[in-house]
Amino acid sequence: MAQQPMYPPINPPPYPVEPYSPGFKGEPDIPAPEPHDVTFGEEPMCVRCPHCNLTVESSISPETGKVTWLSSIGCFILGGIICFWIPFCWKCTRDVKHTCPRCGRELGFYRRC
Ligand SMILES: [Zn+2]
Repeated sequence: MAQQPMYPPINPPPYPVEPYSPGFKGEPDIPAPEPHDVTFGEEPMCVRCPHCNLTVESSISPETGKVTWLSSIGCFILGGIICFWIPFCWKCTRDVKHTCPRCGRELGFYRRC
């Protein structure tokens, strides 16, 4: 009488298996972070506006900040009243304000110091 071959028990795969979700449409639905969870930078960012509750790419606008004033004082000392205004035109010395393009409300700030 031939002995039956011993099959190894079926083990679960060593990697985690993603559970099937019926609402999956081909792209992962990653929710955009809330403005208080993100650190704003110099470039527009994708965030969820808490006012209109939509995921938007923030609009940026330069704002006069501490670095702008300190640079203008430095320029005034070095170059006098003629150079005083230069840092106010330089994007690299100004803070960046992020606003919602839909409702226009403020989402956050990028401050240089
Ligand atoms: Zn909004």
